[in-house]
Amino acid sequence: MNPPAVNPPAMPTYLGMPSFPEAARGAVADTRLRANLAHATGTIRRRREAAVAELPDWPELRDAAKQIKDHTLEHLGHYLELLEERVTAAGGTVHWALDAAEANAIVTRLVRETGESEVVKVKSMATQEIGLNEALAEAGITAHETDLAELIVQLDDDLPSHILVPAIHKNRAEIREIFRREMPSAPEDLTDDPAALAEAARRHLRAKFLSAKVAVSGANFAIAETGTVLVVESEGNGRMCLTLPDTLITVMGVEKLLPTARDLEVFLQLLPRSSTAERMNPYTSAWTGVHPGDGPRAFHLVLLDNGRTATHADPVGRQALRCIRCSACLNVCPVYARAGGHAYGSPYPGPIGAILSPQIRGIGSDVDASLPFASTLCGACYEACPVAIDIPEVLVHLRARAPKKPGERLVMTAAGWTLRTPGRLALAQYAASRGRWFARRLRFPRAWADTRDVPVPPARSFRRWWREEQR
Ligand code: SF4
Repeated sequence: MNPPAVNPPAMPTYLGMPSFPEAARGAVADTRLRANLAHATGTIRRRREAAVAELPDWPELRDAAKQIKDHTLEHLGHYLELLEERVTAAGGTVHWALDAAEANAIVTRLVRETGESEVVKVKSMATQEIGLNEALAEAGITAHETDLAELIVQLDDDLPSHILVPAIHKNRAEIREIFRREMPSAPEDLTDDPAALAEAARRHLRAKFLSAKVAVSGANFAIAETGTVLVVESEGNGRMCLTLPDTLITVMGVEKLLPTARDLEVFLQLLPRSSTAERMNPYTSAWTGVHPGDGPRAFHLVLLDNGRTATHADPVGRQALRCIRCSACLNVCPVYARAGGHAYGSPYPGPIGAILSPQIRGIGSDVDASLPFASTLCGACYEACPVAIDIPEVLVHLRARAPKKPGERLVMTAAGWTLRTPGRLALAQYAASRGRWFARRLRFPRAWADTRDVPVPPARSFRRWWREEQR
């Protein structure tokens, strides 16, 4: 007998979230969250380092990946048209979506045309980015997440906080409580043993897989020369979604393209080691259009722009489009490990989120203007990135573009005027040393002075000391 059906709530959205410093304040004060994050990111980080160290040609692979991605981005229009031609020739249908609203409208229409009111979903960052679950819920369509961590987050009416491990902020005891509360098929005596939790989720999901007629997925890669689309995952839930339903709808960011099947040789080595620290990916599903008697009977590929063309136009920021969503940069970031993923106000947290979200959404809102500053610029993310995205470079570039806070422009203008000539600087230093008594008593803004020692200007400036010594 199948377990009773559960209609999960539509997930809350990131819309209207506060700026990074404000959102991070609560997270940093939450000791349990910090402990969960430190344990999880530390474990993944150590395993990844060991997996990467096994490959002596890792730097060459990294450079090859960078060059393939840069070449593809340079000729993006050509390869996208080729992909459309090959997918169509193989019996699929390609749709172009300029933004989130258009992509959601296309997917909603396609599901409605099947007459179904439920879909199963493969874990997908692109559909989180456009808020697809919420859009489908508004149209009366229930989307069931099938990735274990996504399911946990969805059942708890929460938001993902990590690209690869969306429930990284929850420990086993919390997950057991969520299953007992929200999953009617979960046994009364469910423990927090990982195998028991996985078994409860398996029973819950099996009924969904066997009854679903429509599946929605994202894509890790698409091959222009063959029209093949790939999903890379660890649990096998994605494989069930991609093969059992009659209709498959894939939403893919336009940057996920690779020119040839041979290019996969590079990325299928880099991605598993960088993300789950595995030598080989457990489930790599690839399909080209539709085939009678094998897999879905209808395949729709929605190619999503949603700010990517604007990002592509920026010669410095464009490198963010190389990202293969491995999450290695999150796991090495000291800011992410303390603030957690929710503080970034976007499905893309951590260093990649700090450079991708302000570019694809625009840097106008408080949260997007604050993201380029959510970093110490230590460079650990650049070192870890398998496609060599110079995240610190893009962060500094975006900081210059961020709207200035009140008073900031005035201070910078005054500093620029002072530093422009040696005479003005000498005058300012003389004034500072004369005003030592005043500086000691100066009340700097609390947010600034609470975490820093305010230096008192020396009695003699270096210039004056030098002059006197020379004399
Ligand atoms: S920026 Fe690099 S390290 Fe971070 S998720 Fe993307 S590919 Fe991985």
